[in-house]
Amino acid sequence: MAQSVILHLESVSKQFSRTATPALQNVSLTLHQGDILGLLGPSGCGKTTLLRIIAGFEQSQSGIITINGQVVAAVDNWVPPEKRNIGMVFQDYALFPHLTVAKNIAFGLHNSGKNSGTQINQMVTDALELVGLSGMESRYPHELSGGQQQRVALARALAPSPTLVLLDEPLSNLDVQVRIRLRQELRDILKSASASGIFVTHDQEEAMAISDQVAVMRAGCVEQFGTPEGIYTQPASRFVAEFVTQANFLLAHRREQAWETEVGAFELTDNNLFRGEVASLDEFDRVELMIRQEDLILKPDNQGAMIIRDRQFLGRELRYCLRTESGQELIARTTPQVALPIGIKVKVSVGEDCLRVFPSTSGENYPKSSKQVVCQDSIVR
Ligand code: ATP
Repeated sequence: MAQSVILHLESVSKQFSRTATPALQNVSLTLHQGDILGLLGPSGCGKTTLLRIIAGFEQSQSGIITINGQVVAAVDNWVPPEKRNIGMVFQDYALFPHLTVAKNIAFGLHNSGKNSGTQINQMVTDALELVGLSGMESRYPHELSGGQQQRVALARALAPSPTLVLLDEPLSNLDVQVRIRLRQELRDILKSASASGIFVTHDQEEAMAISDQVAVMRAGCVEQFGTPEGIYTQPASRFVAEFVTQANFLLAHRREQAWETEVGAFELTDNNLFRGEVASLDEFDRVELMIRQEDLILKPDNQGAMIIRDRQFLGRELRYCLRTESGQELIARTTPQVALPIGIKVKVSVGEDCLRVFPSTSGENYPKSSKQVVCQDSIVR
């Protein structure tokens, strides 16, 4: 059965002042019931603004927002936040310090005026069970760890069964270990409540781990929208490739049938082209090769073009920092079984299927006919 649409944004734009660069430009996207959407992008790209506009804390200049079939923002219609049936979770938890856990969760339930005392007690009990904090009803926020406080904030957001839960960098105040554990828990909790959610993050691993869909944002636009796997394996632009996969990029020049780089020659076909608007490699004399860190194969070789400048042991893998003669650095990640020593020369190779080609962004040799990926209307469904 097809999932119903829970949120639809059509060409939403926001400019904070007439002279400012737009914070959002023609953002369109659709979220289905039960799905978790991660808004991912660098600082200042508009993630929080988009979340606040969906919540109703900010108004957009143009565009239409529909939540569960009801238009909540349009030119002639604006529904205030308290009538949008949205739950919010903030980075700093925003719990009332003078209220117990139970009273923090019950706060919004009293406000609606729809529930009896017995119903509220049951809703609090259910919400605490959902987030794994049963028995902590009487504690105060300062008697809880950061992770527990964030779970209370999540319980408070979920207790009224909102149509949509919005989470603004919910894990970024927590230390790394708690953060990694809680991101799995967060997903499990949202899924077991069948909640639809949008969360903001600038951490690509976090976005991949929690989300069913990811919107990669850049300068107020959604540059790519898709599943975590789709975005990782088929980045739609060099920006997405760099931001999401943290891949290496190497300049390559055409030399007869092969493409020469500083670390060796590669055979390329049109199949290696990125999924953009460029149809054929014949259009180029020079391109950029994207090579993911995990796809580089290293072989000790005195004639090799790269030197191992550093090596880090990361438990499940080794991270090598490699340097070419000209000083360009590439990062490689390998299994920890065979550790190569720092200072030796290596030859690098890459499986043909793993290479992706982007038009060179330097401008030189850039074909007049082809278009760079520009962010004018980021309609994504
Ligand atoms: P971060 O990850 O750093 O929180 P972000 O992607 O969430 O960044 P936003 O906070 O949405 O980015 O900001 C987008 C742009 O809008 C920025 O240029 C920011 O300076 C601007 N901006 C945000 N809020 C306001 C405001 N209230 N008044 C004026 N400009 C604002």
